[in-house]
Amino acid sequence: MAPVPSVRLLILGKQGAGKGTQCARLARHYAVPHISTGEMFRAAEKSGSEFGQELARYMRVGDLIPDELVVAFVVERLQRDDAQRGFILDGFPRTANQADALAKMLDPLEIDIAIDLQVPTEVVLQRLASRRVCRECGFNYGVGVPPKVDWTCDLCGGEVVERGDDTAAAIERRLKLYEKETEPLVVWYLTRDKLVVVDGVGDPDVVTARLIGAVDRRLRRTPGEGTQK
Ligand code: ADP
Ligand code: ZN
Repeated sequence: MAPVPSVRLLILGKQGAGKGTQCARLARHYAVPHISTGEMFRAAEKSGSEFGQELARYMRVGDLIPDELVVAFVVERLQRDDAQRGFILDGFPRTANQADALAKMLDPLEIDIAIDLQVPTEVVLQRLASRRVCRECGFNYGVGVPPKVDWTCDLCGGEVVERGDDTAAAIERRLKLYEKETEPLVVWYLTRDKLVVVDGVGDPDVVTARLIGAVDRRLRRTPGEGTQK
């Protein structure tokens, strides 16, 4: 197999756009870690620590966790060995402050590509209504991809549950915050010539193929630093 280029990607998209599912696949394809802030915070919550409980209070109602806390987590995570040849950031940055902090963390390197995975609100609302997640490994199940055995994870045998923050009120709050805080980052990355827009509607495999096609095209167009052939 030809060596895959190293890539530093991030993905923007509404709740339910399919970021978690698609990032897991892109991470495998490009052999880089999938760094999901939501997963990191849910793991901290599960650990039962006082700190985890504090994070959970924000998540349960669909609020954003304060920037300083989120940034501290990501700084620590990006310093680990496995992130040195690239990564896929899922759920970060979500605010202009976080985008600034990320640019500073990476300096003198940069993100190669910011993907905007676009899905209309009506579609994400339908998907979120049927979203289930494995409590142990975080794998996402939905309308198109239920577990083979009810409520049991195909991958690890863990219990498949509804997410505590997928209540109507918390979903509404998260989508509002997305529009207000995160959507402006699309323009932020566009003006820095990092943006790639991908249609997130359709069969998950089709969307994966679209994503890989769009990323590869862009990597060929700007074979800048860190994108070794
Ligand atoms: P979703 O995209 O459906 O909101 P995530 O798993 O990405 O799900 O995030 C779950 C929760 O974790 C968010 O609602 C928020 O409380 C918190 N969170 C995750 N990433 C961030 C971030 N970058 N900034 C602030 N809060 C975050
Ligand atoms: Zn599992």
